Amino acid sequence: MTRFLFSLLALTSCFLTAQNLKSPSEFLGYELGTEFTRHHEVVDYYQYLAEQAPDMVKLTTYGQTNERRPLLLAYVSSATNMANLENIRQEHLKDTEGSGNSSAAIVWLSYNVHGNESVSTEASMQTIYELLTSKRSYLDNTVVIMDPCINPDGRDRYSNWYNQYKNTPHQLDPNSKEHNEGWWSGRSNHYMFDLNRDWAWLTQVESQQRIKVYNEWLPHVHVDFHEQGVNEPYYFAPAAEPYHEVITDFQRDFQVTLGKNHAKYFDAEGWFYFTKEIFDLFYPSYGDTYPTYNGAIGMTYEQGGSGHAGLGVITGIGDTLTLKDRIAHHHTTGLSTIEVSHQNAERLNQEFKKFYQNKNFKYKSYVLNGDSDKIEALKQLLSKHKIKYGSPTVSSVKGYNYQTGGSGSMAISQNSLVVSTNQSKGTLVKVLFEPNAKLSDSLTYDITAWSLPYAYGLNGIASTSLVTSQAQNPAVNSGALDANSYAYISNWNSMKDAKFLAALLKAGIRVRKADHPFSVEGKSFARGSLIITKGDNQNNADFFSQLTKISREFSQELTASSTGYVDSGKDFGSAYVQMISKPKIAVLSGEPTSTLRFGEIWHFFEQQLEYPITVIDSEYADQVDLKDYDILILPSGGYGNHFNEAQLTKLKDWVSAGGKLIAMGGAIDGIDGEKGFGIKKKEAAKDSTKNKPKPHKNAQREQIKNAITGAIFKARVDNSHPLAYGYGTEYFTLKLGSAGYDYLKYGNAAYLEGESPKQVSGFAGSEALKKVANSLIFGVENRGEGAVVYMVDNPLFRGFWENGKLFFANALFMVD
Ligand SMILES: [Zn+2]
Repeated sequence: MTRFLFSLLALTSCFLTAQNLKSPSEFLGYELGTEFTRHHEVVDYYQYLAEQAPDMVKLTTYGQTNERRPLLLAYVSSATNMANLENIRQEHLKDTEGSGNSSAAIVWLSYNVHGNESVSTEASMQTIYELLTSKRSYLDNTVVIMDPCINPDGRDRYSNWYNQYKNTPHQLDPNSKEHNEGWWSGRSNHYMFDLNRDWAWLTQVESQQRIKVYNEWLPHVHVDFHEQGVNEPYYFAPAAEPYHEVITDFQRDFQVTLGKNHAKYFDAEGWFYFTKEIFDLFYPSYGDTYPTYNGAIGMTYEQGGSGHAGLGVITGIGDTLTLKDRIAHHHTTGLSTIEVSHQNAERLNQEFKKFYQNKNFKYKSYVLNGDSDKIEALKQLLSKHKIKYGSPTVSSVKGYNYQTGGSGSMAISQNSLVVSTNQSKGTLVKVLFEPNAKLSDSLTYDITAWSLPYAYGLNGIASTSLVTSQAQNPAVNSGALDANSYAYISNWNSMKDAKFLAALLKAGIRVRKADHPFSVEGKSFARGSLIITKGDNQNNADFFSQLTKISREFSQELTASSTGYVDSGKDFGSAYVQMISKPKIAVLSGEPTSTLRFGEIWHFFEQQLEYPITVIDSEYADQVDLKDYDILILPSGGYGNHFNEAQLTKLKDWVSAGGKLIAMGGAIDGIDGEKGFGIKKKEAAKDSTKNKPKPHKNAQREQIKNAITGAIFKARVDNSHPLAYGYGTEYFTLKLGSAGYDYLKYGNAAYLEGESPKQVSGFAGSEALKKVANSLIFGVENRGEGAVVYMVDNPLFRGFWENGKLFFANALFMVD
């Protein structure tokens, strides 16, 4: 009796709570869809729900953005499940090891990864409200995890901008300012990174903090809510080809099940939608693919709208698209996803378990060799993905050799690392490490190559048999330095070494670089090695304590030398052992630079190298005296004829007087030509089939012959050139386009060689390959006292091509 009364009471109070919950419109004080809700107001609403319905909503803060906005997750389920939440999580995770016994479906909904695709967060509020009220029945066997806003900095940038520029009442005419955001839209995060390209590389704080929790849950279903152009109808699953070959039949089939349920709702309302086009499942760093490679049904949903749509806009066919329409659509697919998951909870659990049991991959182990800093950088990434690794217990391995592209063997060293597919994250290991991912269709949305051994500059073997391994021993730190040495020497071959140098320069420590290989006191050093002498720093009383502190902070290995007299090479007092200057660096921003390309540089300096820059906007660049700067960086972009003759003359004079200009990608087109610098773009190769008529239906396929959609090429390296210090004689470059430039007369530090360069991984069209034959990748043109550094390929692309970053650091510190 008592028990009956108690549960009746509990039921009633629960029921009352839900009945009394304020809808988003009631809580915010305006009808949802008539204003853009600022992020702090969204936070308020979620907090309100968690306070009012604590038995069904748990709100956590999983992190903070660069601009200090909170990153939230709301866990929503029935009171019974919520009381048992940690148990449900643990039981579910055991399924990845085959031992769990879970029954709940786990659905993770991610909103607003692109900040100006701003309907998503609005829709999330309506979705959680209905889950807690009219759709509560879905929650008896389903845990819903909602991230109301993956990118709060970008979203607030958009909503604040919109509030500032909108007409009152809002203007439907697409030409009005409120529909045209300008150079820096709200799409990206603070550092202008596209967070929907960062799930695998984790270069951004938002991704790093999110992936930690994501891996604690590994949901059955993940939806990433987006928006596309104003004139596009709605897009939902099933996705387009290519699908990565690891995607299971069930993962494909369930996309269809979901899509059909969404279609039912859309058909009833007469709404337009499409499926199976454009949005493919291949590149692993998206909000649909990364979850898919971790066992989920990972999907992208795209509403028409984004930053152009505002509160309402006239579309191409003359209809009006409103924010309310956009909310209704995203809210419908969100709830429909939960409904289908709730109906199929048992199946989702069975199939999730099966996904994790699959270890039937061609390559069982990937074995990596190379510089310890690079191995360390890779280990850090693997740990973030909960991928296990170890030290091989064999003395050599055979298999596919990444360097030669054929079969070969490799001796195991002390640093060697083995990563096997025989682990719960085996599918992800295959996707990230395999030398050449199988492409079922060349028409894809993104880059087609990313293999980690190439990205991290490591030698690798992919082995078809399992290589035994043991836990890695932590690196032993060498002993204390002798305060009375003549000099201290550091290797120069990794991004970590560049960070160390930046820290020394910032501390006012004077550092020299060796332009020749040398050996001293029985030890050999390569070009670019850093030489820090007592003599150079004798006026700095704190020199030795600073040096010790910084080298400890970076765990930097230093070799002390009691003499400047070398056994071979140049003595430390030689003219070939020059002081490295502490450069003052300016970076151009604004039109015509690309926000993504500028952002990569901005992030590189502030969050990776930790070295200050001055950002100069193109709007007032003409008024800036370049003499105040040692280096000017031109990020890639659509330059065309951006620089007029007078501006080019000014740039050339500044370089001749000792300035260093770093021109990246599209910026090269802005400074080449008769009035510019010496670099020459290759003539477009003649398409031998050009004059034959081609059927219209093949137009897209024809165009792709001219494209390189992010493919990896093996380049030659002249490592006697300062731009290539620290590298071997080969470099695997990620080529993102087909622009080709002739070799420079001198100073070709990295280049493609031969009439028919072949990509080692990824897609490159037949015509595009002709254009990049015998072409420059990285080079330096000396001019007067200064230099121009050309970077045709982008070593900072999305911040993940770890092995390219030293080229950029060389451009800053090694090139005179
Ligand atoms: Zn998007």
